[in-house]
Amino acid sequence: MLVTKHTLAASSAHATPYYLIRGTKPGPVIMITSGVHGNETASMAAAQKLANDCMAGRRHVVRGLLIIIPRVNQKAHRNKSRGKPDLNRTFPRHISGKAKHPLASAVFRLARQYGPAWWLDLHEANGLSQRSSQVLGQTLITNPGSKAVPVCKRIIGRMNRSIPIRDRHFNLKQHELPGSARTAAARLLQARSVTVETCWSLNRSDRIKYQTEIVNYFLREAGLL
Ligand SMILES: [Zn+2]
Repeated sequence: MLVTKHTLAASSAHATPYYLIRGTKPGPVIMITSGVHGNETASMAAAQKLANDCMAGRRHVVRGLLIIIPRVNQKAHRNKSRGKPDLNRTFPRHISGKAKHPLASAVFRLARQYGPAWWLDLHEANGLSQRSSQVLGQTLITNPGSKAVPVCKRIIGRMNRSIPIRDRHFNLKQHELPGSARTAAARLLQARSVTVETCWSLNRSDRIKYQTEIVNYFLREAGLL
């Protein structure tokens, strides 16, 4: 395994670290972003811990390439805010379209360079989807008809069997969100792209645990472990 640390959007106000974690055997590329919204801290902590664990040799990727950008929107994170404009509405909407923000543009340029088969975008949201279908907390979200749907269903099944509190169970949503990283990755890169949303009124250690478990299931399903 070879792990290297780099800087995205270097020498700009948006500069942020990213990690390339290469297995020794050939395999798929999976991209993990978190902190597209700067105040969703449990998802950032889970992604940063995975990157740190790989750097320190505590975690191993066997096949393929794992790309992690743990804190996409550093500026919003420093302000403890979601970020203005909402970065998750500025990703390219069409094959010939351009990102509407230099940071989204830098993230997407990196993605185009490596052509991920999978893209996980880690977020946090209000509410518990098990109580109300109107909220996004505790969901996996794909674009409608995504090839990722069967895998998402399997992972939700495994997660829910391990979560005794029913209200905290995960549900799948299929939704097109133009300008989001998820929809851009699906439309422009034909990636299996999934947004992971934990409920941020739960305690932080549980949210980090859920994010970490879901990411691990995807790494296994994608064949990296
Ligand atoms: Zn978010």
